[in-house]
Amino acid sequence: MDHSVLYERAKRVMPGGVNSPVRAFKAVGSTPLFIQRANGSKIYDINNREYIDYVCSWGPIILGHNHPEIVESITDILHYGLSFGAATVNEVLMAELITSIVPNVDMVRMVNSGTEAVMSAIRLARGYTGKDKIIKFEGCYHGHSDSMLVKAGSGALTLSSPDSLGVTEGTAKDTLVAVYNDTESVEKLFNQYEGQIAAVIVEPVAANMGVVPPEKEFLTKLRELCDKNNALLIFDEVITGFRLCIGGAQEFYNVKADLVTYGKIIGGGMPVGAYGGRREIMEFVSPEGGVYQAGTLSGNPIAMAAGYAQLRILNENREIYEKIDATAKRMEDGFKSIAEELALPLCVNRVGSLIGVFFTNEKVDNFKKAKTSDTKLYAKYFNSMLKEGIYLAPSQFEAMFVSYSHTEEDIDKTLYSTKKVLSGLKN
Ligand SMILES: *Cc1c(COP(=O)(O)O)cnc(C)c1O
Repeated sequence: MDHSVLYERAKRVMPGGVNSPVRAFKAVGSTPLFIQRANGSKIYDINNREYIDYVCSWGPIILGHNHPEIVESITDILHYGLSFGAATVNEVLMAELITSIVPNVDMVRMVNSGTEAVMSAIRLARGYTGKDKIIKFEGCYHGHSDSMLVKAGSGALTLSSPDSLGVTEGTAKDTLVAVYNDTESVEKLFNQYEGQIAAVIVEPVAANMGVVPPEKEFLTKLRELCDKNNALLIFDEVITGFRLCIGGAQEFYNVKADLVTYGKIIGGGMPVGAYGGRREIMEFVSPEGGVYQAGTLSGNPIAMAAGYAQLRILNENREIYEKIDATAKRMEDGFKSIAEELALPLCVNRVGSLIGVFFTNEKVDNFKKAKTSDTKLYAKYFNSMLKEGIYLAPSQFEAMFVSYSHTEEDIDKTLYSTKKVLSGLKN
């Protein structure tokens, strides 16, 4: 089957031919690849061409594609029925597992996506504090709910329309924007809007403007500022949760959040999100409290089976994280020595299994620096790598995800191709 013929058909019946913008490959000036199947660290297109996959469904696939235990747990319960809209045992098991693993989360509510998790957590923060305004950081992406589509990262970034049409001024005015890794910018907003700020929401590791790690003390300082101003600290752990380590960023950086949002990994590849936090805050959620939030398919049995299986595997085999970290470090080291050898300006950021490479001389620690990257060069790199059988994120401003199933051979092949491609591009 021909990718471009299929893309033409897709474009006639779907906006941009896709169901999520970044898949359209616009940021790298090409057209989408249609994927048919995947296994381990590899994905295969409709012509059965194999690629080493560093997108990993944008995060959920931390154990690699088609993990047998996850597949088995889904197939086991498929014939029981797909959805009941009623309470089930697996929801209880899932909530017990999450609250037992993650620090500072006494209760959780399952939803169907990261967007929904963040949207609900924001409403809860407002309901709990009785305040309206939220501080977010430029270049951090928190899904596509109206109040979060202000200076957002990810697909919103690469389309160069960070502020979406259709978001009202009324909504946007309650979202204040600070600079990542700059606590002074946060302090200023707290002073300017004294007594009006419900919460600060942050990606503990920014992974939607490429990968930008938090500087030492950044998260601790945010905690202090929130305490001082009676605001909640929300960690958006849709990417970092169960990834940096089993307890996510809270455990990794030893900073307590009041509310935490999850997605991606906790669904094991099924559409799932969740938000959770301290008991006295979560008790504000309906039907216990006055903050309304609901979902016909929330806690769906198949989704719970997939997510539960993945979290249990991670929880019971924590050496998995050491292995992924070592694999990702091999990649980081490789990138750095290639850059040195070719005298190519390249900033390589890595936290655990998240890697970001920026074609710039700058040390990228915020959104402004991320934007100094040569996106045209990234696009060339991406398209040449695809020809080499390596599937990177189709945008400079997305992370590379290394999974448990990536082997040293995968990494070495990726580095070999990187060197070949970049030497060619330099000349
Ligand atoms: C992906 C992402 C979201 C949105 O999740 P969806 O499941 O795509 O709605 C929110 N926050 C962060 C940090 C994300 O990376």
